[in-house]
Amino acid sequence: MAILKILKYGDEILRKKSKEVSKVSKKIRILAENMIDTMYANNGVGLAAPQVGENIRMFVIDVSQDDEPLNPIVFINPKIIKKSGAIKSNEGCLSFPKAYVDVRRYKNIMVKALDLNGRPFIMEAKDGELLARAIQHEYDHLDGILFIDHSRNIFDAIEVLRQNDLPSIEQDKILDEPELEEEILKQESVNKE
Ligand code: ZN
Repeated sequence: MAILKILKYGDEILRKKSKEVSKVSKKIRILAENMIDTMYANNGVGLAAPQVGENIRMFVIDVSQDDEPLNPIVFINPKIIKKSGAIKSNEGCLSFPKAYVDVRRYKNIMVKALDLNGRPFIMEAKDGELLARAIQHEYDHLDGILFIDHSRNIFDAIEVLRQNDLPSIEQDKILDEPELEEEILKQESVNKE
């Protein structure tokens, strides 16, 4: 097993669209194992293949808590087949050391993917739980989309990146998500009452 080098924000590989895995080969399985080791070594809850320099559609996630047994899940050629609701998510990324930003996510999702045996599975994650948000975050990496692109407040994001000596935000990548934002604002006004 090996700990891989994680690419940092600014590396162009992180902005490339990744290719489907054509066969779940031994090479893919070894990469997945190394990605899991790398995720644990960096205390992450998820890691996508492009972050270790491989533009292929695979990511790993483990949202187990400290007192729970490890539960790594490998997603190969994932597709988000259902999404609904909206939620605010305070996120970081192993490619953005120490930078945390409020972003918009769907609250509920359903994802279809292949496991390490090449068998399809479906997973549902609801109520904005960490798993739901982590799947969306990692899935985005496969399309060259980064969490800061979902920033709720671009000025906050610019400041956070600056404070952590990371390259500046790419304004043209910022996603306009009026429906998600409207839903989150609605929840926030209810919470204030
Ligand atoms: Zn990330």
